[in-house]
Amino acid sequence: MAKKEINIDLEVVKVGFANGVAEGFPLTDKQKEKMINQAEKAYGKFLDALKCDWRNDPNSMETPKRVAKAYVNNLWEGRYTAMSPITSFPSDGYDGIVIERNIPLTSMCSHHHQTIKGVVHIGYIAGENGQVVGLSKLNRIVELFGRRGAIQEQLTSAIHNAVSKITKGNKGVIVTIVATHNCVSCRGVKHEGASMITTKASGVFRENNNLARKEFFDSLKINNGGHQV
Ligand SMILES: [Zn+2]
Repeated sequence: MAKKEINIDLEVVKVGFANGVAEGFPLTDKQKEKMINQAEKAYGKFLDALKCDWRNDPNSMETPKRVAKAYVNNLWEGRYTAMSPITSFPSDGYDGIVIERNIPLTSMCSHHHQTIKGVVHIGYIAGENGQVVGLSKLNRIVELFGRRGAIQEQLTSAIHNAVSKITKGNKGVIVTIVATHNCVSCRGVKHEGASMITTKASGVFRENNNLARKEFFDSLKINNGGHQV
């Protein structure tokens, strides 16, 4: 059993970008506290600019603090807090596909700061002497990259890249995201129910006679609780 620390080389975008990690990542509790205080003050000014009398409204007087805490501790958690170390195991001769489907995704679009909700399906095939990872680590990777600003295309690539790195020597990785974007349903065109599907595949999942890719998508259709692709 080999332990591998998650680190900055799983990242695919520049430090500081909304869909990257914050400078100084991972932040200490003290640094997060300071950040929450600064963001709280700034959000109060944002509400002032919108002529919202939040200081005297019992429902809103704590809102700047709530919003700042939600960003740092939940909505953008992946920018500030590292995930727990990845444990990988020898595959012991298993050479089939490993699939985890319907991993819940909550993210936020970098463009409008509105939620992105959906599911992520991940498949990979370990190499000859390859490593498999504890299943929940795939969920943690989705959390790490989902809990920050995102555009779905880049998020798909980021998750694919991270899975590929932690399953070193793999024969292929495939990641599909099916998600709805609140910025489409609540603003702009205001269309409820439209979903976006993105897929990033490598190795055997990209080859011409693509049985692995077919097996992956067929597997998603089996008793899968309605999240069909
Ligand atoms: Zn958007």
